[in-house]
Amino acid sequence: VPVARLRSVSMVFADGTHALDDISIELRQSEFVSLVGPSGCGKSTVLRLLAGFEVPSTGAVETTGDTVGYVFQEPTLLPWRTVAANVTLPAQLTGLPAATARDRAGDVLRRVGLTGFERHRPGQLSGGMRMRVSIARALMLRPRLFLFDEPFGALDEITRERLNEELSSLFLTEPFSGLFVTHSVPEAVFLSTRVLVMSARPGRIVADVAVPFGWPRA
Ligand code: ADP
Ligand code: ADP
Repeated sequence: VPVARLRSVSMVFADGTHALDDISIELRQSEFVSLVGPSGCGKSTVLRLLAGFEVPSTGAVETTGDTVGYVFQEPTLLPWRTVAANVTLPAQLTGLPAATARDRAGDVLRRVGLTGFERHRPGQLSGGMRMRVSIARALMLRPRLFLFDEPFGALDEITRERLNEELSSLFLTEPFSGLFVTHSVPEAVFLSTRVLVMSARPGRIVADVAVPFGWPRA
């Protein structure tokens, strides 16, 4: 059963911009798919449709209705809240008991290597650490589908490479599926089991390539 599916989706915005043309994408359980293509080809629009932030002009978007984890290029942390308080926010908003939220926050912070930084504020952390907080926050509600909108694009190359390593080992232990938008073909090939290539104006899928030596998934 697919975790998410776009069926012949086209997107024409109110100002007439034809962003997507007849896009079909199927994400299966435990698949980690990258989406590459030039700036403006519609990658973010695909993610926004899957997250339910947008409705397609034509075609259908199907998801399981479960929680979606969304990781943006900007970590979008609340600067006045501690790391722990930023991470527990989604749990608070969905009414998870405080004790459960605390336990889970400890667990997800450990998984991204940030144990001991619970009381820091975002401004006291490096860019790489802020991105780890953002990933930890997205893990809190245990999503089955993770959407990444070029999360490492603003980081220096060494940090980026390290986060790629960490993300791939994180996914090895997690039963969820991911769609990862990036400008970097090496990053896409490193992280994913399949790479989708888009062309622009309007956005179309022009290639769908399995990565033969992608890291093994359970
Ligand atoms: P990418 O993520 O690949 O850079 P986007 O999905 O952000 O591309 O945008 C695809 C195209 O749709 C671009 O031409 C962009 O300018 C346009 N676009 C995105 N959102 C809107 C909007 N709300 N209204 C009009 N045009 C939009
Ligand atoms: P970068 O973003 O440059 O890759 P990392 O996020 O990998 O940096 O952090 C490298 C290590 O440096 C962290 O594991 C942490 O121990 C330490 N570190 C970085 N920033 C801070 C900070 N503000 N306070 C304490 N330790 C820090």
